[in-house]
Amino acid sequence: MSLSDIHPRKRASEDDNGTNKRFRQSDTHDDTKKTETASQDIELILPRQVNTHPAKIPDRKRHIQTISSIIKRKQPFEKTPNLRAIEIEYEIAKTTTHITYASTLRNAIYKLQHPEKFQSGAQTKKHSKDDVLKLLKSIEIPISKLRQYGFVMSVPEASPYTKITRNCQRCDTEFKLSQQLEPTTCEFHYGKIRRNPDNKTRYYDCCLAPKDDSRDIKPCESRKYHVYQNSSVEEKQSLRSFVKTDEIFDQRGKYRVLGIDCEMGYTTCGFELMRVTAVDYFTLKTVMDTHVLPFGEVVDFNTRFSGISSIDGSFVSFNQMIQELGMVMDKDTILIGHGLENDMNALRLVHNHIIDTSILYPKFESTPTSRKSLKDLTFKYLSKNIQVGNHDSAEDSIAAIEIVKYHIDRMEVGKHGN
Ligand SMILES: [Zn+2]
Ligand SMILES: [Zn+2]
Repeated sequence: MSLSDIHPRKRASEDDNGTNKRFRQSDTHDDTKKTETASQDIELILPRQVNTHPAKIPDRKRHIQTISSIIKRKQPFEKTPNLRAIEIEYEIAKTTTHITYASTLRNAIYKLQHPEKFQSGAQTKKHSKDDVLKLLKSIEIPISKLRQYGFVMSVPEASPYTKITRNCQRCDTEFKLSQQLEPTTCEFHYGKIRRNPDNKTRYYDCCLAPKDDSRDIKPCESRKYHVYQNSSVEEKQSLRSFVKTDEIFDQRGKYRVLGIDCEMGYTTCGFELMRVTAVDYFTLKTVMDTHVLPFGEVVDFNTRFSGISSIDGSFVSFNQMIQELGMVMDKDTILIGHGLENDMNALRLVHNHIIDTSILYPKFESTPTSRKSLKDLTFKYLSKNIQVGNHDSAEDSIAAIEIVKYHIDRMEVGKHGN
């Protein structure tokens, strides 16, 4: 996790102090050079000035160099690869933030490296926007299936959990809720248990320690507090009520199809929503990225997965977040995600138009509720490696959208339902 993920404001002012002067130099440099170098490339690579603070200048420079070297290899007839690389990076930099810059850039680099894959994808263009909407409608997951996968499809009865103890989500130790904020030791593996190639033994993918029930092996992670999740929907309902989107989002929202991703952290009220990201299907632009104040007191930000490590002035109330969501979506907007029931439950929304990539591409047809990970799907269908390095909130949404696009590209209008 880089500092930029945590303190966007701080990062921005660092750029202002340290490198703005160079920005300006590079801009004038570009403008004067552009006319006289129509057929002549420039030697000196300087990123063009943008106001979005997507990344530090040395990083942007490095990316331009990478793009330029790919252009030299893949497009030997391009006379001004450096200029073109600066332009490509600039187009990305000016439309992204420090959150979306890295993934957008990775996508662009991938496309430059594999033009053949996107030529075949060019057949996508035969679908008009209306056709795409029709096709998407035809692959919406039926409500009965959504229910089977844990989506809440009608507002549940509230039923608070009355026991005064909980079992820790991470280490399974039983603890008293009233003592959750008294420091203790919570030791656990944050990774998943995986099977070794011998198919008999297993290991944790966080630290590669063997999973051996006969031996006591010290877990790789340690925290001061135990944590828990609200498991049942009735319990969730008693904390904050579910609402139907057709009752609250009756004004037309801006977007017809959105990728949705929520980040969660542990509080004294369980596992709570802390951030909501929405990405437009057609442009892949992040159209909403809102930090949400939780109800309870924060016990663990779950930073490794949430990318959040502190609460600052940018956090808004849950209700304010719902209002913002109502600006970008409405009751008919198709929502795309992977394992989206977790996000919808965190948002406490009952919504009928869902395309969940984990349901669209199940692991085995025979056991439909066993899911493939988004990382595996993305690798299999898009030959892309995601979720490496810094946490990027838009990355998962974009990956789910691209899997759906892959699916849509291979469909024909008129053959599928309405
Ligand atoms: Zn571990
Ligand atoms: Zn614990």
